[in-house]
Amino acid sequence: MLELLLPPPVDPLWDLTEAFGADTRPERLNLVLGVYRDESGATPVMAAVREAEIRLAERSASKEYRGLSGNLAFNRAMLSMVLGPDGPDGPAERAVAVQTVAGSGALRLLADLICRTRPGTTVWISDPAYVNHRPIMEAAGLTVRTYRWLDQEGMLQDLAGARRDDVVLLQGCCHNPTGVDPAPDAWEALAEMAVRDGWVPFVDLAYHGLGDGLDADLAATRMLAQRVPEVLLAISCSKNFGLYSDRTGCAVVIGASRASLRHAETALQNAARTQYSMPPEHGAAVVTAVWEDAGLQASWRAELDAMRHRISANRTALVEQLAALGRGAEADVLARQKGMFSMLPLSPEQMLRLRGRFAVYGTTAGRVNIAGIGLDRIPCLARGIAGVLEE
Ligand code: PLP
Repeated sequence: MLELLLPPPVDPLWDLTEAFGADTRPERLNLVLGVYRDESGATPVMAAVREAEIRLAERSASKEYRGLSGNLAFNRAMLSMVLGPDGPDGPAERAVAVQTVAGSGALRLLADLICRTRPGTTVWISDPAYVNHRPIMEAAGLTVRTYRWLDQEGMLQDLAGARRDDVVLLQGCCHNPTGVDPAPDAWEALAEMAVRDGWVPFVDLAYHGLGDGLDADLAATRMLAQRVPEVLLAISCSKNFGLYSDRTGCAVVIGASRASLRHAETALQNAARTQYSMPPEHGAAVVTAVWEDAGLQASWRAELDAMRHRISANRTALVEQLAALGRGAEADVLARQKGMFSMLPLSPEQMLRLRGRFAVYGTTAGRVNIAGIGLDRIPCLARGIAGVLEE
């Protein structure tokens, strides 16, 4: 059987990470993967997470199986965090939530739900998109079309082609890979189009808290959930709780009414049952313990804010250094971006030269992790960018 296996495509990000591992230059910088790093280059366990883990270990709750929806208190915490305190008629009242294997698992489970509901549904993804959006949607059997992202007029024009019951995958904030989000009026226009044309917004939330602050980053998602009858949410706790390897996330389905949801949770559970049965408990228990304890939640929010401020200080320093090196136009492009990623205004050839000459590793398309570098190394990055632009 195995001789029939064709050489599979190599994951470009892991390929670059391997190349970085083999690079012996002391000044090398790995800005490829989307992982938060502190000034010392470490990806820390957040203080509130550590404290919650200690408390959980002391309580040593049983590791008995959970149900197919995972940790129910965690699901409630996710609804409360993402949709906000919204009273009895708010979207949380017409939502079901199922714990998933991180954000990727939520994307896949919801894609399965869409496919079971209407096989072959068209899902629109941004161009450029998060590298896994197309593969996950296609693996579930959906038809993928793209809409322009960086040109917001173009985005609205492309999405005018979305039909009733199509699904439009949007990133709620801190767009990966560009770092550029729609302006508030563009979000409003999207909500109006979704209501008028009958397509379903599917919001991927992976970086809330790392752009303008937790509530500000969730504002567009909350507005869509208020205005549009049906909305899907894929929530990741990987970045904002630093729980990357604990695979913690949640799939949410918001319906027009409570009654419209009667099959949604079972459909998600069935999709989970045929893939992995139940999600891992640990990360969900930690997030719940943090969310439900006022002190731990305050500590988590403060640390998340500090992470966000570090990212934004790095970006500001890069913008200033580039401007000082006579690269004002490129600096202006970067100044409009936010969140963990920046898209450098460099061609794939220039990105290769940045790697070859300056040992700076970003993706070939130009994405760099702004959280992956210490403030003291920003001048090197700026000199590298200016250097390849001058060649
Ligand atoms: N969505 C986006 C936009 C992402 O950038 C990522 C991870 O980088 C994910 C979803 C999935 O994250 P995870 O499965 O690690 O929670």
